[in-house]
Amino acid sequence: MKKIVIVGGGTGGTVVANVLARKRISDTAIIVVNDSSNHVYQPAFIYRALGEIIDESKIMREERKLLDKKVELLIDRALKIDVQNRQVWLESGKQLEYDYLIISTGSRIVPEEVPGYRAAHHFYTLEGARILHETLERFNGGVVAVGIGGIPYKCPPAPAEFCCLLDYYFTKRKIRDKVEIHYLSPLPRTFPHEAVAESIREMMEEKEIHWHPMFNIESIDSERRVVNSLEGESLKYDLLVMVPPHRGAEVVERSELGVDGGWIPVDKHTLQYRDYSEVYAIGDATNLPISKAGSVAHFEAKVVAERIYSDTIGHKPEAVYDGRVTCFCDAGFKKAIYMSFNYENPPKKPRFSYLWYLGKQMVNRFYWSLILRGIV
Ligand SMILES: Cc1cc2nc3c(=O)[nH]c(=O)nc-3n(C[C@H](O)[C@H](O)[C@H](O)COP(=O)(O)OP(=O)(O)OC[C@H]3O[C@@H](n4cnc5c(N)ncnc54)[C@H](O)[C@@H]3O)c2cc1C
Repeated sequence: MKKIVIVGGGTGGTVVANVLARKRISDTAIIVVNDSSNHVYQPAFIYRALGEIIDESKIMREERKLLDKKVELLIDRALKIDVQNRQVWLESGKQLEYDYLIISTGSRIVPEEVPGYRAAHHFYTLEGARILHETLERFNGGVVAVGIGGIPYKCPPAPAEFCCLLDYYFTKRKIRDKVEIHYLSPLPRTFPHEAVAESIREMMEEKEIHWHPMFNIESIDSERRVVNSLEGESLKYDLLVMVPPHRGAEVVERSELGVDGGWIPVDKHTLQYRDYSEVYAIGDATNLPISKAGSVAHFEAKVVAERIYSDTIGHKPEAVYDGRVTCFCDAGFKKAIYMSFNYENPPKKPRFSYLWYLGKQMVNRFYWSLILRGIV
């Protein structure tokens, strides 16, 4: 019996397992190892922070129920991956051998890398979002600074989106005139892609959100409530929200599979790890110079499932990833933008509209069924 082992059962891991299960490859076991029995929908963290979602059971499901019955799920933590000997060592003491390995361990946050980070808030974990919500509810006016602790981080539009949604939140609370919102961008523009940056800048100007280009956060002086940039600028704040720096998963670093921050180097088209044609990495875990986004994990998962399937039936794997990214940015007041691009074609300048707001709602709704099953 052949074994396909998937380490990490988040967005990418769940999609690849379900697509492979539907292919009904004979004499092959599909095993997902995930360190939690729950699957949490991370894009909802922003809405949890802003109080649009309070009931957290709506944004999590049991991973077992999201996986095809033919997939075996082990709730365990991978401690070491040995690609030379095709083995994965688990915290429980088990040792898995594999014929194909897919690493979809995502990323982890490392706030401790920024001196003084304890004074800041974030919405990059459910707990962080919950605490930020309580803080926002007590906040009655002053300067809110939203910054970025390092690149890359999950969901590039998230901090700009959060600024726009703060404008909406304070407007609803009728205290918008008492709040100054500042967006600290580590780039010379509001977003990595120029055309999208232009739309976001226009939206920020319309909403009177102050944005600071080239503000790479170096340290936080919590006593004076000042955030300092590497470029020598400082900003006094009353409430600081900061995307924490990200790194690859611990198991990737421990297994020495990652480069520069623990990101796994893979071929940008085949998603294969170095010369190990049976080892793939997908989603946030890779070092590909594209967005760390659920849509990327989803598109890549389908490519890898197709490649492994071809190999098992004796065909040359031909499916390739073209760098496709799709994402939305919600601006509040029921308006959003949508962007879609790939390695060859940068995004066009998007327009904020109600239609794209509805599009984002649809994705949120169909995440659990169509998206995680790999049907769309
Ligand atoms: C606030 C926020 C907003 C976002 N908004 C969007 C959005 O609008 N659109 C979008 O496309 N994306 C968005 N994202 C990003 C998206 O959630 C991630 O890019 C996506 O989940 C990545 O999928 P993945 O499979 O690579 O990793 P994940 O979904 O993070 O899954 C990784 C899994 O691996 C497990 N794991 C890690 N280490 C081990 C180990 N050693 N052993 C076993 N299991 C392990 C983890 O527990 C987890 O279940 C957002 C993220 C955040 C935080």
